[in-house]
Formats: sequence, structure tokens, C-alpha cells
Amino acid sequence: MKLTHSAFQKHIFRDKIFFIKRDDLLHEDFSGNKARKFEYFLVNDFPNIDKLVSYGSNQSNAMYSLCVLAKLKGWKFVYFCDHIPSFLKENPIGNYKYAIQNGMQIYTVVDKKQNAYSLENGTTLVVEEGGRQKSSEYGIKKLADELREDIRKNHIKNPYIFLPSGTGITALYLQKHLPFRVFTCSTVGDDKYLEKQWQMVEDDIKILPIILNSQKKYHYGKLYPEAYEIYKELKNDMGVEFDLLYDPIGWIKFLENIDKLEGTPVYLHQGGLKGNESMKARYERKYDKIN
Ligand SMILES: *Cc1c(COP(=O)(O)O)cnc(C)c1O
Repeated sequence: MKLTHSAFQKHIFRDKIFFIKRDDLLHEDFSGNKARKFEYFLVNDFPNIDKLVSYGSNQSNAMYSLCVLAKLKGWKFVYFCDHIPSFLKENPIGNYKYAIQNGMQIYTVVDKKQNAYSLENGTTLVVEEGGRQKSSEYGIKKLADELREDIRKNHIKNPYIFLPSGTGITALYLQKHLPFRVFTCSTVGDDKYLEKQWQMVEDDIKILPIILNSQKKYHYGKLYPEAYEIYKELKNDMGVEFDLLYDPIGWIKFLENIDKLEGTPVYLHQGGLKGNESMKARYERKYDKIN
């Protein structure tokens, strides 16, 4: 399997032009920014490896993508997390469901990171939570090259990129390999957390992405009515479904700042739609109650 150039589209939203880089359409099973981050493992040969190990949350997009990668490579996939609600075990949904179907062995442990790294050896590869590691640069650089080509072919004047961050690794490596400004926002922790993540992977980067903020504080994984509203508005008006965990917070913070930003916006759609199954169920339970 090989990743091919993802689509690049022009859309209008709230009377403004947005170009959207559709990494959600990269591949049916291996898409979004996790596919970019793990492309290094996809294209290189690891003749001695027979097992892939990682850790993180029980609904993570990285978990699902790694499981697909392991399957393509013929590796076992072992994953550690803090807890699995019994409701989820009995009613599997979203990334958890599809990763189990693909053969993931998942374990609940007290220290997930320590457990993962204790297995690392000549035949077992350990991948950091959310792909927060140097090897992610390989695929993200290729994404930067694609964006440069898309922007040139569409004759976009004064472009800038926006994408919401988790670990911030995608934004960091995009900025490293692009001549345009990269704007981002945090969805996990505060802005200090993002800057710390950036220092952890590369401490000598000259130009960092610019962090946009909002009046209101948002907590990772929490449900907000305005987030659900903008998800539905984007889907109706643009015909594009975005992820429900990162993108609504991204769009809220982006739109709050957009009048201050000069140039033509390019929004990076980073996939995550498999994870929407569980997020949508949570939102529907909370806000779409039939009276
Ligand atoms: C993982 C993920 C992010 C965050 O990416 P980082 O590189 O960790 O900042 C954003 N959006 C989606 C859909 C993701 O799956």
C-alpha cells in the first residue's frame, strides 16, 4: 500500500473562501494525520519486527491507525490504556471497536507508558502516544511538499495554514517544512503544554507555529453545544464532515481570530472520522434528546 496525493478543495463558509486539504480522504483505512505520522513505518522495511506496541486512550485515532499498520505489516498489535469502561467492552463502538476487530490486544494497566516500553526489544517496536516522535517528520514533510504543490497549482496568493493541535507535532513539522505561516490552537492542555511538546521533540527549531486562542477555555474530550453546532453547520454548508474532537474547537478558535489574519486560509482536515462514531453517540445522547 502507498499513500497518494490527497485532494485539495475550495469551499465557501460564512461568506469566506477556505481551501481545505482533505487528508481525511487519503485512504479508507489509513487516513488523516496519523497516516502521515506513521507513513515512515509503512514504507520502510523492518525485517526483524513482529510486534507493534503503543499506549494511550481507549478511543484514540492513533490506536486505530497503528492497528491497521500492524495488520498491513503482518505484526501483532499490543496496546495499553488506563481503563476501559464496562459499557464500552459490552457495546464496542468507534476506534475501539474497529481496532479490536483488526486483532488488537488491549490491556488496562496502572502505568501504560512504562508497560509499553518494557516490551521494547529487537523484535518489538514501540510507538509513542499519538505519534509524538521524530519518525513522524517523514510523512509530515511529504504533506508539506503536497501543500506547496496544491497552493502553487491553485495560484493562491499569500496563503497560510491552520490546523488544530493535540500534541502539536503535525503543526511543528509542517512549519519546519513550509515557507508559509502555520497557525494552530491547543485542544489538549494550555498553550504552555504545546510549547513543551515542541521542545520535547526538537529543541532547535527556529520558527514555531503561531498559537491562536479563544475567550472561552475548552477541555479535551468534553462536550460543548457550540462545538456540536459548528460541526453540523460545516457539514451542512460545506458538505464536509469534520472530526468532533479536535476540529470544532479548531474552527471556533480559528474563526474568533480570522479577522486579524492576513491572506488566504488553507485548513488542514486531519481525518479522525472513525472516532466520530463514539463522539456522535455521546453528543446525540446529550443534545439531541427527543422531548
Ligand atoms: C491526532 C489528531 C490531531 C492532533 O494531531 P497532533 O499532531 O497530535 O497535534 C488532530 N486532529 C485529528 C483528527 C487527529 O486524529
